[in-house]
Amino acid sequence: MKLVLATGNKGKVREIKELCSEHEVIPYSELIDEFEIVEDGDTFKENALIKARAVYRALENSSKIDADTVVIADDSGISVDALGGEPGIYSARYAGVGASDKDNLYKLIQALKDKNEKNSKAHYTAAIAIVTKDAEFSVHGWMYGDVIDEAIGDGGFGYDPMFIPDGFDKTLGELDNEIKKGVSHRSKALELAKTVIKTL
Ligand code: IMP
Repeated sequence: MKLVLATGNKGKVREIKELCSEHEVIPYSELIDEFEIVEDGDTFKENALIKARAVYRALENSSKIDADTVVIADDSGISVDALGGEPGIYSARYAGVGASDKDNLYKLIQALKDKNEKNSKAHYTAAIAIVTKDAEFSVHGWMYGDVIDEAIGDGGFGYDPMFIPDGFDKTLGELDNEIKKGVSHRSKALELAKTVIKTL
């Protein structure tokens, strides 16, 4: 079955390809030109569905879809307790529209420092939407831990260098990629997504 990913985020594409190695996984940008998708939902789930529907429709309009093509979209982000759950669904544009992962990471570190917090409980959420010819599904996964007021390590992507998952004493920037695969919000959501995909 062909899984088309409704994302251009290289970190997500790499992780999803690794976690779904039994399927043919291709980012939609390999089929059609990337286009802007306005993520104006109030939840991770709504934004994941908005992205998956938009890409499904665009592929249909360009006749780049087979009857058994499945489009999956991941909407994810980090919520920090000391910041009242921020940045949450705004994680990708925390430092402004078009901000880089590094801009967002250092803005979050600064926000903790501004609160005089050296660390805080935090969690990642991943919502995955699955859109097919005649059905839509969504699943979620979470990873709990702490954020710290510095970036350590260059593994993972996004906010990983400041996030220490529960049960570990190092950031996801320092920990082996295989460890992240075992505990991540995206892995958990993808396991559920794969269960759904098997039923199609
Ligand atoms: P989205 O592409 O709109 O879902 O935005 C996701 C945002 O959350 C981006 O800023 C990512 O860097 C961040 N994010 C999501 N998942 C992860 C992760 O596994 N590690 C680090 N940052 C993540």
